[in-house]
Amino acid sequence: MVSRNRAVATTSNRTAVSGRAASKRSVAVLGATGTVGQRFLQLLESHPCFEVAEVMASDASAGKRYEDAVHGRWKLPTPIPGSVRGLRVKGPGERLKSRLLFSALDASVAGELEERHAHDGHLVSSNSRNHRMDPLVPLVVPEINRDHLALLDRQPFGKGGIVTNPNCSTIVLAMALAPMHRAFGVEAVTVTTFQAVSGAGYPGVPSLDVLGNVIPNVPGEEEKMEHETHKILGRLGPKGIAPAAFALSAQCHRVPVLDGHLEAVSVKLARRVTLKQLLGALQTFRPLAKLSLPSAPVEPLMVRLEDDRPQPRLDADREGGMGVTLGRVRPCSVLDWKFDALGHNTIRGAAGAAILNAEILAHEGRI
Ligand code: NAP
Repeated sequence: MVSRNRAVATTSNRTAVSGRAASKRSVAVLGATGTVGQRFLQLLESHPCFEVAEVMASDASAGKRYEDAVHGRWKLPTPIPGSVRGLRVKGPGERLKSRLLFSALDASVAGELEERHAHDGHLVSSNSRNHRMDPLVPLVVPEINRDHLALLDRQPFGKGGIVTNPNCSTIVLAMALAPMHRAFGVEAVTVTTFQAVSGAGYPGVPSLDVLGNVIPNVPGEEEKMEHETHKILGRLGPKGIAPAAFALSAQCHRVPVLDGHLEAVSVKLARRVTLKQLLGALQTFRPLAKLSLPSAPVEPLMVRLEDDRPQPRLDADREGGMGVTLGRVRPCSVLDWKFDALGHNTIRGAAGAAILNAEILAHEGRI
């Protein structure tokens, strides 16, 4: 009975996700006033299937019209979407009506609030780190591990649930490694990141610390990259997710770049491959090509062949910020291959990733 209902829902949601639905689903954005929350509102403004009906933030913003709550701190080049300007910002204690919630809550409150909303029957697509490593919470990149969404059926929330997307630097690495791991097996990885300041939220890193400088520490980031990558590339079985077993060492740096995390990666593979085979695996990686998801990039991984790409300023916005760009793929004299990878941290690494997760949930008939 359950599976029959789900099949029916899947058909109707495919229609919705393809953009032909008559009406859009109402959604709420939690943490709507912050760096990632603003991105959600910008990306959802013209979304074919989702429409922002509710916004929520801290008690400091609650009760205000949205445009008053973000007065002086709307930091995107596009104006505040007209449809949300006049919405009253809800406080953390208020009930929400929308079934689907996008969370960009500060990590100090995200854990408890997301769980409470899941218990109340909401499906939460979260950016926050709090639940990413919970054994029953899928940590999803739709191109890589959408089968992990089956974990939702094991969560203790009834009709509700929590789905997470990875940390902003993890998603870039996981996207680059996925086709190599699938085709050849990854045995060891080292990664050095050069991370944009927008990754620290607003006001984030003080300008006097980061201008003309590089800070060789992004607190908590190295552990997140190592653990989350293994979970994403792991296998779902009856006992949960068996994480990928390869060695991974990350070194993270904050650099004075506005948007876009650049990563220098070296990788050892389980078997010898030629450059042509390696590039072929990367360039043919299009697992979502047939699904018509509005936010899915046509070319999720692009390999640039120039000596000086990818660069944050030139490449972070590729495919509306949803594409990951690789370059400088070449032999490594310590491991097997080395390359650079780049992704937009607040789009592919945050709001855009959560929206794509919601689109795949809709495609699968879960909302
Ligand atoms: P941010 O700019 O500091 O925004 C935090 C948001 O949380 C604001 O809307 C804030 O509302 C709200 N908030 C704070 N305390 C609250 C409370 N007690 N109750 C309800 N709402 C509360 O942070 P951000 O950079 O957007 O990051 C948001 C989340 O996404 C974090 O968990 C972060 O780790 C994750 N993330 C960020 C990035 C990135 O590139 N920035 C990437 C991936 C994941 P007020 O404005 O009212 O204070």
